[in-house]
Amino acid sequence: MYGSRVVVVFFIFLALALMITSTSFFSPKQATFETNLYEEVQSDPAIKRHIRITTLYGAVSHVEIPKTNDHQVNDFFNDFVLAHQEAYFTITQHPTNRLKQEGQSSHRFLFDWHVVDEKIASVVFYEHWSVKNVTYRFTMESFLVDFSTSTVYSSKNLLDNQSIKSIGFQNKLEQAIHKQRLFYGQEDTRKKTINQFIKNGVFIIERDTLRIQGTNSNLKNNDGGLTSIAIPFRNASAIMTPTLMKLLPIRENQNKQLAFTFDDGPNRHTKEILNVLMKHDAKATFFVLGMQVEMFPSLAKRIVEDGHEIANHSYSHKDLVKVSAQVAKSEINKTTKIIKETTGVTVTLLRPPYGRYNKKVKTYSDLRITLWNVDPLDWSSRDPKAITRNILHDAKDGSIILMHDIYATSAQALDDALTLLNEQGYEFVSVSELLNQE
Ligand code: ZN
Repeated sequence: MYGSRVVVVFFIFLALALMITSTSFFSPKQATFETNLYEEVQSDPAIKRHIRITTLYGAVSHVEIPKTNDHQVNDFFNDFVLAHQEAYFTITQHPTNRLKQEGQSSHRFLFDWHVVDEKIASVVFYEHWSVKNVTYRFTMESFLVDFSTSTVYSSKNLLDNQSIKSIGFQNKLEQAIHKQRLFYGQEDTRKKTINQFIKNGVFIIERDTLRIQGTNSNLKNNDGGLTSIAIPFRNASAIMTPTLMKLLPIRENQNKQLAFTFDDGPNRHTKEILNVLMKHDAKATFFVLGMQVEMFPSLAKRIVEDGHEIANHSYSHKDLVKVSAQVAKSEINKTTKIIKETTGVTVTLLRPPYGRYNKKVKTYSDLRITLWNVDPLDWSSRDPKAITRNILHDAKDGSIILMHDIYATSAQALDDALTLLNEQGYEFVSVSELLNQE
């Protein structure tokens, strides 16, 4: 009933099954009966599962202790598991305790093992107390082991608690829950459910994903008796501490990037675009017109506050090749000034209107001229499905995608495109971030 196991080979390492191996005494009258078994778990790093079943009068405790090739790591887990077993016996054997009086209590302390790479693995413990076969207590705890330094980390200390509570991360979880149709509570309890799930759940670091496991009456069980949601590392980087980032192996194909750009705003539809970007935790670049920033200064500010890049698209969308040098310079420099005064940002990029420029235009400012290489024609089609299709068809790693934040249809298309591209492993970054890696 617990999570999937990586047990491939199962054999009894020491033939001690069903044998009473020791008879020790807590007190002269309290005999302990103990059975020890060993299971081989085929994995690299190597590990064995030490199963220890202890009976103390009516109370039975079944614990599993990880045995690795690292003594320091073994000592840590041995102490951790046995402390839990001791707590169980102390409580159940106390004469005034309800569990003692009702009898037939049992304790199970099991673990799952997840290999991250040959030096790093996660171990998750599941503790289960029951009285007369009814669950009395269920808790989980997750660790990350770094065998190169013999260090055991509590997984929750490797994650940034503040970022876990952020809207961006909660939205990602919500999307995953929605996609797997795991939520079956009342619609108005959705946010609260996700909050509780995160609060009570355990975070498990796996090979390419961060898995959140827990129980919640509003969420379906999809992993034994638990609800389990996997978030790819690339979508979880915001909640990882620098310590964890350093521990995780760098993998190829993990940084496929796209730069979405939005021209001609800000405008009354900019807000919709910003909301969609926030929902997907995507960053983009807004090539704004100076005259529009004057009209919608608060939207220009929000672009910056949301963490996007703001850039220059001239003052009034004139063709900079056709107008006089004086007018063209003014179109560019006036806009740079307005953006600085409104948002505090000094722009570095210029996208000339219509993508038109020549050698002379280049000399009018020291801004970097940036065009695009994917044009999904959102300005001509106004059909969200067609726009999404165009984006999906043309986008590849490193693409700069031209869109406009002046149509409602572009926001709808963006929502679908980000969902689908995210599934393909893309990360959404600003143009400057994309270009600076070249
Ligand atoms: Zn334009």
